[in-house]
Amino acid sequence: MHKITLPHHHTEGQSPEYLGEQLSKIDEFQTVAEIFKQLGDTTRVRIFWLLCHCEECVINISAMMEMSSPAVSHHLRPLRNRGLIVSRRVGKEVYYRAADTEQSHLLHQMIEQVMEISCPDR
Ligand SMILES: [Zn+2]
Repeated sequence: MHKITLPHHHTEGQSPEYLGEQLSKIDEFQTVAEIFKQLGDTTRVRIFWLLCHCEECVINISAMMEMSSPAVSHHLRPLRNRGLIVSRRVGKEVYYRAADTEQSHLLHQMIEQVMEISCPDR
């Protein structure tokens, strides 16, 4: 950790070395930005939130979203690539649900806190 001297000195607080060290983790910040980018679309947030509470096939997700299946599939793909949702094939049917990860749980909570709604699962 190298010594950082800031041009201005305002307050005694968190050491600039610590903050500077965290700020240099550009790849990690990039990952956060990419997750927010995935959810930077209203439809995708709605689909993600829905899949936090049920496991469904594209046809049923389409029915609940009142959207075409290809449009829903188009949104499911990047969510799955980013690891926010997972899929499971049973015969000819593929079921989607939110991934059981800390990231996905946090985003689930964040959506409900921002919307000030209570989780239907709790
Ligand atoms: Zn919930």
